Amino acid sequence: MIARYKYRFYPTDQQKHSLAKLFGCARYVWNEALAYCHTAGKYLGYKHLASRLTKLKGSVQWLKEVSSVALQQSLRHLEKAYQGFFNKKGGAPRFKKKTTNQSATLMRSAFSLKGKGVYLAKIGVVKPIWSRELPSQPSSVTVIKDSAERYFLSFVVEVEPEKIEAKSPSIGVDLGIKIFAACSDGMKYYSPDYTPLYNRIAQLQKQLARRVKGSNRWERTRLRIAKLHCRIEDMRTDFLHKLSTKLTNKNQVVVLEGLNVRGMLKNRKWSKAISRQGWRFFRDLCKGKSEKFQRELRILNRWEATSQHCSKCGWHWGKLDLSTREVVCDNCGTQHCRDVNAAKCIEQVGMGYRPTLKRTRRLSKTTEPKGSVASVSEASRILAL
Ligand SMILES: [Zn+2]
Repeated sequence: MIARYKYRFYPTDQQKHSLAKLFGCARYVWNEALAYCHTAGKYLGYKHLASRLTKLKGSVQWLKEVSSVALQQSLRHLEKAYQGFFNKKGGAPRFKKKTTNQSATLMRSAFSLKGKGVYLAKIGVVKPIWSRELPSQPSSVTVIKDSAERYFLSFVVEVEPEKIEAKSPSIGVDLGIKIFAACSDGMKYYSPDYTPLYNRIAQLQKQLARRVKGSNRWERTRLRIAKLHCRIEDMRTDFLHKLSTKLTNKNQVVVLEGLNVRGMLKNRKWSKAISRQGWRFFRDLCKGKSEKFQRELRILNRWEATSQHCSKCGWHWGKLDLSTREVVCDNCGTQHCRDVNAAKCIEQVGMGYRPTLKRTRRLSKTTEPKGSVASVSEASRILAL
């Protein structure tokens, strides 16, 4: 399977200059091709755009100053973006801006590993900080400059799946806002508190608005804001990586709830908190790691009402108010933590053994879709990613 390994590096001033050129050209090629497709009214295909690029180089001289591999790669990325759009996996490709993250990708022919350095075509040798060893020869490298002006090399490498026996057969995970993840084994994981950092950003945003756009002071404040955003991003990524590793490593099957994130984002009261959580990223991480550890990830149908049932007896108590944290089951008298109970239900539905669903359906008179109690109907409601 394929993985990305990312390392920070500090380019010299000369290299910064060459890198800026590389990013600029890669961006230019993307934007130019995109604009051309817009005028044509359709995506014209990689081959057509690549042969156009060759002609373009005749008139735009400075495109020759950077690695041609990176420019072709820009067109490949555009193709991927269009494919994603056609397959309804993403929005339409957009024009790239100078102020956001900059990147350019080099394939095998345009870079090589030289001792502790990495040679990049027409840039020179850069020395990344090798925080961990590369597991195999990389097939490509993406050079990144983020908005806080940090530089990274991101290698694509082939990795072998790890074979570690799972300690537990399955776990259900309920994702929330106050508690990031409540698990069916009773564990609760809280996400780091980003509020102080967000407050600081809000302050600086006000400051930025008072500055003259483009001035030195404006630029300094902009950079400080970007750095804070990066810090939050790093904290979040770190937390989500650790948690997803822990859950997938320990359990053979991880069951998550399919969340209607887009629908939830429409709720203005919650939208900010939700977008800060990184649920989707967490799901993607779990997916990648289940592959790595040879585990299985199951995603429930998003309409499965997992918080409405008792995980012990299957009693249906109906919709709970969001503020209700503890529930006592009217039927069996068990006291539940709301989130852990939901996690247990998620696990039960995901594994196909929700208790005595039939009886509760009759008692609670809810209108659930018809189907048999166990495996078949439950399994059919489990959506593959
Ligand atoms: Zn009960």
